[in-house]
Amino acid sequence: MQAMILDRARQPLRFLADAPDPVPGPGQVLIRVAACGVCRTDLHIVDGELTQPKLPLVPGHEIVGTVAARGAGVTSLAPGDRVGVPWLGWVCGTCAYCRSGRENLCDAARFTGYQIDGGYAGATVADARFCFALPAAYGDVEAAPLLCAGLIGYRALRLAGEGERLGLYGFGAAAHIAAQVARWRGQRVYAFTKPGDREGQEFARSLGAHWAGGSDETPPERLDAAIIFAPVGALVPAALEATAKGGIVVCAGIHMSDIPRFPYRILWEERQVRSVANLTRADGEEFLAIAPKVPVHTATEAFPLAAANEALTRLREGRITGAAVLVP
Ligand SMILES: [Zn+2]
Ligand SMILES: [Zn+2]
Repeated sequence: MQAMILDRARQPLRFLADAPDPVPGPGQVLIRVAACGVCRTDLHIVDGELTQPKLPLVPGHEIVGTVAARGAGVTSLAPGDRVGVPWLGWVCGTCAYCRSGRENLCDAARFTGYQIDGGYAGATVADARFCFALPAAYGDVEAAPLLCAGLIGYRALRLAGEGERLGLYGFGAAAHIAAQVARWRGQRVYAFTKPGDREGQEFARSLGAHWAGGSDETPPERLDAAIIFAPVGALVPAALEATAKGGIVVCAGIHMSDIPRFPYRILWEERQVRSVANLTRADGEEFLAIAPKVPVHTATEAFPLAAANEALTRLREGRITGAAVLVP
């Protein structure tokens, strides 16, 4: 199989034309990868901002593929089944978080494309209990961004509450899906892009955003909640300033630059700042049931697997509309 390998942070991925297929262990399945989304988290790993990857590593945690073989004890999946593999790759099942419905915070969690080899490859293995069935309405490439951009965006939406006026800061893969779900829930979307990014603002309007502007602009109305998808800490006080009393600011990324100091008055009046970490399998099942009802359409740009470095560079430079997807 082909594979893209991270040997060390801050180095381009290395292309392997003919690596041996991985072998599924007990409880795992071997999956032929049909598509794998490129997530900003991959960029944080490659750029060394997330410091605990296994090395060498096959990145990628928005995997769509077909079960090709089963390890010992797997009965829930059969060869030929189409599955999706998300970021949450394994949890202990026994810690206090796992036992209280918060497996996303498991003390011993392992993540796909970080501590477990992921989907920047022709084949991968995954724990069968962490694979999702995918809605039939989606093609392989279209489905890939649902698996992280979609899922994390959905969890962030849930934590942002039901308020009518919702701001989305950073209009990339996650926000373009969250905007569609938010509208479906009856919310009004205010999209914030990099200042001057007319194309991004147009893209947001095309997905039903009520207002789109630069992150340095003041929205026409105060927001009930805001979700920050861009890895920019300075957006936290900006979003707080844009929210109404009781507003919630959700930081949805796994890494962010430092948050500048800000006056207490912009947090006052029961505003909240919180983060979102990872996902639970329940989030995934809920979101994947909702996506075809909305229906969520994903905007994707496909790259051959061997062009993964180019896809990452384009994402780093903000030159992807929607989501990049690798096709082995
Ligand atoms: Zn646990
Ligand atoms: Zn991700």
